Amino acid sequence: MLTYNGLIELRSKLASGEINLELAKAQCWNDFKEGQRSWYTKDWKERRAEFIKDKCEICSGKETLTLQHLSHPKRYSEYLIEITRTYAKDYIGSNPQIDKSDFNNYVLRNYDYLPIPLCPNCKSRNPNKRIRKVPQYLCTECRYEFDNPDYKAIEELISAFYEDKEAIEVRDKCFVSKGKWRNKHNLSNIRYWLQRERAKNKNTEAIEKEAFLLYLNDNIKYLSFEDTITACKKCASNFDLYNMELCPKCKLYYKGAQYSTCIQCLPEEKRKAALEKIEFRKGWQAMHENLEID
Ligand SMILES: [Zn+2]
Ligand SMILES: [Zn+2]
Ligand SMILES: [Zn+2]
Repeated sequence: MLTYNGLIELRSKLASGEINLELAKAQCWNDFKEGQRSWYTKDWKERRAEFIKDKCEICSGKETLTLQHLSHPKRYSEYLIEITRTYAKDYIGSNPQIDKSDFNNYVLRNYDYLPIPLCPNCKSRNPNKRIRKVPQYLCTECRYEFDNPDYKAIEELISAFYEDKEAIEVRDKCFVSKGKWRNKHNLSNIRYWLQRERAKNKNTEAIEKEAFLLYLNDNIKYLSFEDTITACKKCASNFDLYNMELCPKCKLYYKGAQYSTCIQCLPEEKRKAALEKIEFRKGWQAMHENLEID
């Protein structure tokens, strides 16, 4: 696990090109798995001691103070998805056309086709499929009964898509992705995924580097303790700390996003009630724990 300063150095080396992405990843993740906490490093403990205040920033209590993060770093994989999406958008903007036979091949290679049944007589979509009656199908448009519906060939559907991307017949999600996800897509969806794949292949390194720099930023921010508050044990368990923000009135204490001010800035009566409520809930929780009904 790198120290705070170690991470900052790594970020600048990667950003300037002094080291490449592979090396940066290796240095960052060396004997550290993603998601593993930094709690036990000496660096972390020392820096934490500098940041923790001598009283709770919500209720000003002093009992069992902890330093709580108000945000958590995103995963590298989340950033990869985010950055890939922006590259895909740019790519689509500058390469809106796809060669029809490329598209055709992509569909065949990546999808199973589950065609929509059509009436052989009037070509209406989705005739009624009957369980006990023979013939099995009834067209609700022309009342024709039949056993073997018509289907559009993939090539026909793709041609229709190239003529009119919004046509009703090409909107159905009748393509199922091969592989483990089995996603249902229509031809517009497939076109997006093809373009996204092209954008990704064309810019793999840039995407990964950008994502990794953002990931490093997040971790640096996390270790900087910028986005933390000191909370007592009671407040830490009573409040959703991810929803806390600095009180706009005193700019000194924290408040829940749903309240207009912090506890300290409430009128005397309300302040008392709020503090009692925190006490009460704590007592109530302790009672439940003792009785083991929680
Ligand atoms: Zn507190
Ligand atoms: Zn019909
Ligand atoms: Zn306040």
